[in-house]
Amino acid sequence: MGNSVQKILQGRGDKKRQGFRIKDALPFVFLFFTYLGLLLEFPTERTVLWFSVWTANTLLCSFFHFSRKTRQYALEFLFSLALLIAGAAQASGLPWLKILYFPFFLLLTIWYDRRVLFSLVVLVPFLDLNLFLKKGIEVQEVAFFLSLALTTGITQVLVKKIKRKAGYERNISRGAADNFAETGAEMFPEETVISRYLESMFRPDEEIQEVIGITKNTLVADSVHLFLNIDGNLRLRGSTEEAGGIIPSNKGIVPISFEEKKPALFLDIVEKKREVGYLKKEKIASLLAMPVLDGNFAFGVLVADSGRFQAFNSADLEILQTYANQIVRILQRERVYRQIQRSFSNLKVLNEESAKLLSSLKIEVIARNLIEGIYKIAPCAIVFCLSRGREFEIIGQQGLPSQEKQSFGLKGTLLDMAVKNSDPLYISDVRSYRSPILPFKTDAAGSLVILPMLYEKEVLGILTLISKETTAFSTSQIEFIKLLANQASTSIKNAKFHEEIEKLAITDGLTGLFNHRHFQEKLSQEFNRLGRFSDPLSLLLIDIDHFKKVNDTYGHPAGDAVLKKVAAIIRKTIRNIDVPARYGGEEFTLILPGTDSSGAMNMAERLRKAIMDANFSSEKESFTITVSTGISTNAQGGAEVKNKEQLIERADKALYEAKRTGRNRSVFWNERIEKAD
Ligand code: GH3
Ligand code: MG
Ligand code: MG
Repeated sequence: MGNSVQKILQGRGDKKRQGFRIKDALPFVFLFFTYLGLLLEFPTERTVLWFSVWTANTLLCSFFHFSRKTRQYALEFLFSLALLIAGAAQASGLPWLKILYFPFFLLLTIWYDRRVLFSLVVLVPFLDLNLFLKKGIEVQEVAFFLSLALTTGITQVLVKKIKRKAGYERNISRGAADNFAETGAEMFPEETVISRYLESMFRPDEEIQEVIGITKNTLVADSVHLFLNIDGNLRLRGSTEEAGGIIPSNKGIVPISFEEKKPALFLDIVEKKREVGYLKKEKIASLLAMPVLDGNFAFGVLVADSGRFQAFNSADLEILQTYANQIVRILQRERVYRQIQRSFSNLKVLNEESAKLLSSLKIEVIARNLIEGIYKIAPCAIVFCLSRGREFEIIGQQGLPSQEKQSFGLKGTLLDMAVKNSDPLYISDVRSYRSPILPFKTDAAGSLVILPMLYEKEVLGILTLISKETTAFSTSQIEFIKLLANQASTSIKNAKFHEEIEKLAITDGLTGLFNHRHFQEKLSQEFNRLGRFSDPLSLLLIDIDHFKKVNDTYGHPAGDAVLKKVAAIIRKTIRNIDVPARYGGEEFTLILPGTDSSGAMNMAERLRKAIMDANFSSEKESFTITVSTGISTNAQGGAEVKNKEQLIERADKALYEAKRTGRNRSVFWNERIEKAD
């Protein structure tokens, strides 16, 4: 079982060191003697000696095994542990102790691979070699070792399965694609793969550190540092010194080199008592500084220092220049990378938010989702969304000071201009604008984006973003917001279509009043709302008198015009809460919630008179018409209605009575009418 055996069994031979080394064979030699001791039954006869040797051997094997990263000598180590079980069984005279092989092997399946365990299972029967030689091989011994091998094998397979599953779940929860090849790309969400790819593609810090390290070696400098300009101050981005070893200051050679964009070479800093521009524990005698320039733009300065005088020469400046150029390329890529990453995360937001926009048919919900999505892409002071109706109306907003009015005319404002041109408007600095921007007052704004929300060429509304800072919105942000706003426009248009269809389904085409089906629904609702009918509820059934004659005399179109005009008169006369409907043909109905019998009679009479006073025109001449109305109410002393059907029936009977008694009148239902029927 030395290294050569191990190579075969474990396939872990160290190819670099093919030569045989005595040291490497040490565990094997020790192990062999311990094993020999076992066969000679030392555990029984020289217990202390054998267990001492065993302990030393196990310590040695475990040292060899655990001190190597590659975990070599696994078999030697495990075999020495197995020796303990065999030794203990022998020493105590209790052969059944060998049952401990089972938990021992089961535990090993967690940490050791198939090949090691297989070898160990094969070797374990040899621990009883002395017994076999004495007594011969017994059936129960064979059965014992076979079942040990079988149990180990099965457990090994199960453990492997569990590990694979756990590993996959861990990867998913970490969002990692580390075990890509093993687990398969299709198991990871696409976005995880993309962001992992972006990350793995570029590790700027590592690359910078590498360049700095090479610079130090090439220039034979004590240390090399990269300072970058962050918000007007030079900050350490990378250094060959340990973290915290270098403290930048804003005075000295380095900041000057950065400001003037000129390289600097100083070889006698201590004598001239020059300030370097950063603090370092060790003395600095020579210094090289090279601005890191992208065209005319200075990212920062690359600096090399040394404790020796005259450590650098002018040729070293050129070398430093080369490395500074390399760093520029890394920084440029970093900038692009950040942009890609931002665009990618914006794309994600876009994807999620546009799905949300599609999920609603309510304009207010769409506006709210749109504004939430925009905040994720470009957080700003104020966002609001106006929808176009008779006036523009706020349908969603965030950050807007509370308004008295909710709808506005836009005349003379910048919003108006954007609407007229149907064009987005981005103003990076609105402070110079004299003309009003919005139809209401806001705090001083810095920059502004106005996006008319279009569907085909129709302006459905306006989306406005205001930031307190000037130039707050980047081109890519605006592009993303445009995409989101376009999506919202389509959704708003859909919602409007939906609203229209819903309205059509409940409206009578000729008169624009509710249709019969909706009247029935409304009446049911009113009954449910009343509960125990404690509130009054009245119903009018209005029928045009001798309408057949109107049709016959003036023609069907004139008859239609009459129906329309009567509907208009009804609409004009009633209250907001009253529900007018075309009951059918030339009959209308009116639900009067909260109105008792006398209120209902008043309304019927007002309508009757208004219709009677109205002039209707035809091609031939103008004419007048009259109506008859039947009235019923829910609470009518002692004769309460049971349900809505009864309410309609009573109004119908009253209408019949009105017709019967001469037309052009309003008749209230009473028990006499009921009986006469
Ligand atoms: P009464 O005073 O008894 O109510 O007499 P009437 O002629 O109004 O009653 P009748 O039920 O005999 O006639 C109703 C007429 O209304 C018959 C039908 O041609 C006409 N009508 C129903 N719906 C429409 C419509 O949509 N347009 C037009 N122009 N006429 C309609
Ligand atoms: Mg009729
Ligand atoms: Mg009629």
